Amino acid sequence: MFAKPFLLQPRTVKETGNRKTVLDEPYTLFPDRDALLLKDFPVRVKVGDPLYKQNSGIVLSPVNGIASLEHSEEGSKIRIVQDGNFVGSKPWVFRTLQKDEVLETMDRLGLVSLDFPEHSLSSYFRSKTKTKLILLSPFTKTQDVDFLPELKKNSDCHSSFLEVLKAMFPEAKIKDYIFGMKPPIKTYSYPWGIPEYFANQTEKLSFSRIGDVLYIGPETLYNLYRALFADFPFIEREISLYFLGKNGGLRKSESTLRIRNGQSLKFLFEDLGSQYSSFTVNSFYEKHPVRDVQKGFYWDIRQHYSLIFLTRYDSQRKEFPCVECGECSLNCPTKANPMALVSSFGNFQAGLCMECGICTFLCPSSISLRDQIRNWKEANHGF
Ligand code: SF4
Ligand code: SF4
Repeated sequence: MFAKPFLLQPRTVKETGNRKTVLDEPYTLFPDRDALLLKDFPVRVKVGDPLYKQNSGIVLSPVNGIASLEHSEEGSKIRIVQDGNFVGSKPWVFRTLQKDEVLETMDRLGLVSLDFPEHSLSSYFRSKTKTKLILLSPFTKTQDVDFLPELKKNSDCHSSFLEVLKAMFPEAKIKDYIFGMKPPIKTYSYPWGIPEYFANQTEKLSFSRIGDVLYIGPETLYNLYRALFADFPFIEREISLYFLGKNGGLRKSESTLRIRNGQSLKFLFEDLGSQYSSFTVNSFYEKHPVRDVQKGFYWDIRQHYSLIFLTRYDSQRKEFPCVECGECSLNCPTKANPMALVSSFGNFQAGLCMECGICTFLCPSSISLRDQIRNWKEANHGF
């Protein structure tokens, strides 16, 4: 998968764009309302320069260029008109890591936990000083992109990181399901990438105990190793593309797309917009709106990891009454019995539900069970 990534680069975008189209559309970032600006705008910036700080950490400039700040009722945005060369990845160079440099590098290079993206990676690590268990999982949240081959190619870097992990968390046991231990399943299937589920299945921990664990998935590790061993900032993400055809068939693009933070999807929409009128991000298990390709979109590497194009979408999707087929409860990976919310069969086991959305996805009556679950949990706070 990494052999031929679809890398957006001025003049090298195959059949979809050129230098002009890239420069036409400035990179656009949307700081949180309480973000702290770290520059006086407008300003010339270089790749990796810190632009602002928010709860999910420091956000860095994805390109060289001129950055300006714009305000509107919806909030602020930072627009960067790119100039100069695109700075690409460098090979990883093995070295022995020092304990103190790891957290410093995470902050300097803007890393976030992609398993818990609301946290910067350093604050996630700092919150786990008392942990007794470190879990290294082979599954990304969706496994849309397989990072294992790249990690396995660099086993010496991995060993170096394990040594530093032991020094940072001397009381913790490290369970390494990437190199050392065999995961219970050979091939990924949803929801094995959800940290709560993985910890439950491998270590028999209840979902509420995920906070006791330092959990690191392969995409987080991949970006951390790029930072530690190639000094590369967290400014881009490898994503997968899906296409939902008229007959409902879902096709996955053969190669992945490497996309920078704040990058406009205009170059893709211009190419694919005549075939696909709308799109959504991440997955159908999650609740993201379906959008019109005409309206454009800017990628946020903290929030988005895959893109699904749709030929048509019925925005007035209706829910029908439950036909008591039992699909939802039968396929619930944790046996939470969601069917109980819409019928009289048994009780809903809220404590077992991790809101993965499988029940919603499978319901032939288009009942948004996960929405009902969230409402139920809110109404029964603490259940
Ligand atoms: S969201 Fe649905 S399928 Fe997923 S754990 Fe909860 S009840 Fe089960
Ligand atoms: S899958 Fe939908 S229709 Fe079937 S039992 Fe569950 S809620 Fe009812």
